[in-house]
Amino acid sequence: MPRHQIKADVLIIGGGASGMMAAVAASRAGAKVILLEKNRQLGNKLRITGGGRCNISNAEPNQRELLSNYGNAKKALYSPYSRFGVQDSLLFFKEIGIDTKTEAKQRVFPVSERASDVANALVSAMERSGVVVHKNSSVDQVKTSNSKIDFVSTHGADYSAGNYILATGGTSRPDTGSTGDGFAWLKTMGHSVNAPTPDITPLAVEESFITKNAGTKITRASISFFVDGQKSKVVVSGDILLTHFGISGPAVLNTARNIGGLLKQGRVVASLDSAPGTDTSEIDATLIKLFEQNPKKQLNSILPLVAPSGFASVLRHSLAGKVDCDVKTSEVSKFTRQTVVDHLKELKFTITGLMGLEKAVVADGGVDLAEIDTKTMRSKVVSNLYVTGDLLHINRPSGGFSLQLCWTTGHLAGLNAAKNIAVV
Ligand SMILES: Cc1cc2nc3c(=O)[nH]c(=O)nc-3n(C[C@H](O)[C@H](O)[C@H](O)COP(=O)(O)OP(=O)(O)OC[C@H]3O[C@@H](n4cnc5c(N)ncnc54)[C@H](O)[C@@H]3O)c2cc1C
Repeated sequence: MPRHQIKADVLIIGGGASGMMAAVAASRAGAKVILLEKNRQLGNKLRITGGGRCNISNAEPNQRELLSNYGNAKKALYSPYSRFGVQDSLLFFKEIGIDTKTEAKQRVFPVSERASDVANALVSAMERSGVVVHKNSSVDQVKTSNSKIDFVSTHGADYSAGNYILATGGTSRPDTGSTGDGFAWLKTMGHSVNAPTPDITPLAVEESFITKNAGTKITRASISFFVDGQKSKVVVSGDILLTHFGISGPAVLNTARNIGGLLKQGRVVASLDSAPGTDTSEIDATLIKLFEQNPKKQLNSILPLVAPSGFASVLRHSLAGKVDCDVKTSEVSKFTRQTVVDHLKELKFTITGLMGLEKAVVADGGVDLAEIDTKTMRSKVVSNLYVTGDLLHINRPSGGFSLQLCWTTGHLAGLNAAKNIAVV
């Protein structure tokens, strides 16, 4: 039986952040657009961004400063960000019903603080502009000849188009649908693809006093890292989130690459200071005073008065077996008191590794920007192909920089794919 043949001006593979943005831009520019998504729902990864709040962009007003967050890609991104940058993206979102607000470190969030609102607004914008969406449509083959894509196939049909936009994402969180399919096709088509490794990712920890307290957030803490007993230069400051496998939080995520380097050198031990602004003698004096004021209470019940919120439970678990926390404060020895102070200022635990791609926020790897015309996001290797989002090899920290990259590259790819439609 002949296979179903479907034609479009612009065919987009992948209905994530960048694919949906590309679809709206191409359709608004007058192209007949079809978007293929393998999942039942669009934007699965977008819906879990920012812990469900969606850090949609970063409003750093100084372009040079903003772009310095993209490592080696900084230079190549001047042109695309001046064509469709942060303000253009935020105006676009306002127009489709997403008002935004800026928080600390210029992180931009939707006022509703719901990532699903952002995904749903993009879905509605696609509907309004006439994009045809085929869900449950996993592309399993991309057929090329003479440096051009001829057609792509799903289980049920072949699709051909004037231009193709590849927006299948990277390899982090494969459960959302981003399984790296695009990397394999890009390689086959002659692109050089850097192998992905987890980049912005949490750290795995050995000690159960950390993992048992999953869900605890230690605010404004500081962690120093030691390799085989030697203090390294790597220090993390900010809010630390304890998880059932180790530690996370923006500051930790953004240091993962450096910790990866330390792990190659030897055994890595972290030393957490839960009260970086207070020195040991001050904490000791506070404890002595609290013991005098509460002579009949147990040490256990005093710990929450000296530990930052949530940290008392970590402290109790880490002190277990070392000191008796049930002892009355009037009977606390100097050794016990000092041990408590040590645990507040230098809580030691072992880093066993970086969490893998299944937990990573972003993985590096992807197509070298030298092979993409970043003014249009058109491939320099395959003439009717445009590439967006996490498929591009661009390192960046967390803070809204990844999604902004999707809005910029998605918009430019959509617009230019629609403008330069080849005859099908
Ligand atoms: C937990 C988490 C939190 C994050 N939080 C933030 C944040 O707050 N701010 C920020 O800036 N960034 C954040 N990121 C990063 C951000 O989500 C990604 O950079 C962004 O989603 C990448 O978009 P994309 O369009 O490139 O690909 P994706 O969003 O990964 O979308 C790719 C789509 O292609 C589909 N697809 C794949 N293969 C096929 C195929 N063969 N056929 C058809 N469809 C296919 C997938 O199902 C998927 O829907 C976070 C990431 C994670 C994992």
